[in-house]
Amino acid sequence: MEKKIAVALLGATGPVGQKVITLLENHPRFVLAEVAASEGSVGQLYGERVQWKNEVDLPASAARMKIIPLMSVQSKYVISALPADIAQDVEPALAKRGHIVCSNASAFRMDHQTPLLIPEVNLDHLSLLSKQSWSGKILTNPNCSTVFLAGALAPLRVLGEFDHVSVVTMQALSGAGYPGVSAFDLLGNLIPHIGGEEDKIRLETKKILGTAEVPATFGVTVHVHRVPVVHGHTVAVHLKFKTPVSAEDALRVFQETESKFPDFIKVHTAQDRPQPLRDLHPHDMRIHVGRIKQGDPSNGVKDTVGFISLGHNLVRGAAGAAISILDAYLASL
Ligand code: NAP
Repeated sequence: MEKKIAVALLGATGPVGQKVITLLENHPRFVLAEVAASEGSVGQLYGERVQWKNEVDLPASAARMKIIPLMSVQSKYVISALPADIAQDVEPALAKRGHIVCSNASAFRMDHQTPLLIPEVNLDHLSLLSKQSWSGKILTNPNCSTVFLAGALAPLRVLGEFDHVSVVTMQALSGAGYPGVSAFDLLGNLIPHIGGEEDKIRLETKKILGTAEVPATFGVTVHVHRVPVVHGHTVAVHLKFKTPVSAEDALRVFQETESKFPDFIKVHTAQDRPQPLRDLHPHDMRIHVGRIKQGDPSNGVKDTVGFISLGHNLVRGAAGAAISILDAYLASL
């Protein structure tokens, strides 16, 4: 049997780090080799230090690992689940030392030399790695709402050129880290603001759906909301094309994509689906689309389709995305 590839995990104790650990357990290609976190955690056993909040039990092998400093990792392949301000310094320092860093943080997503990847959509952007001067590399995954927007928009490009995308997000608590937003603020409530998120979704979507060098030019308008859902970001989309398009065609394209890539797109036709609690599972990499409909045809202009897109923010929106990018990167060598 082929030897598994050792992976170091930075920011191992946060919600994204925890999800990486459960996804790497029994992974066919990778094995968790090192866990790193802040100075306050260094030297402690992972199982004793972590406030485990995952839906799946903590694997015993990870519980026994000792937490090490970020810059002590030895594994060539690194998954970073660090806050962006820490990632800003640590990730290039590791790339300089020859590590291949796949990052969940926003620090380098919009950097012109750094690919921002959804493997099923824009793997050709790996060409940007040739611009990086380090002996190692930095690769990034998108913001946890961007992936459900850009991932769902990507197959629809066969229907015509996009004019404008209007987006409303409903984002889960676990997207805010732990402990995140207090129950006092969110229970029975909705918060119509998440700092920096609207720009991230707008700019990252255009980067992903553009060429490696030039972002897409369609307009993107975003309103974000934090809602009292534990896991699962929902994105409501109105997509205006430059030419007429029908909801039936959009549904057909999503269904064809699902049949080719069942781990990427899942189509729902029931009027009340997809829902975070009913449709997401703890290791769910699928982008669930539903409520596909024609925009208001009453003025005779049939150029807009509406749909919603839902996904697990910690899996397709973070940990699972990083692992799949590492996998795709290795396959590309
Ligand atoms: P987080 O609160 O951003 O990060 C927590 C982790 O970072 C912990 O392991 C913590 O270690 C470590 N850390 C904090 N300060 C540190 C420092 N000064 N030096 C070294 N390590 C430090 O939690 P998260 O929600 O898991 O997010 C991780 C990253 O993924 C963030 O950049 C986030 O924006 C991004 N992201 C999150 C989601 C999501 O749905 N949550 C989705 C996509 C992307 P200690 O326990 O030792 O403090």
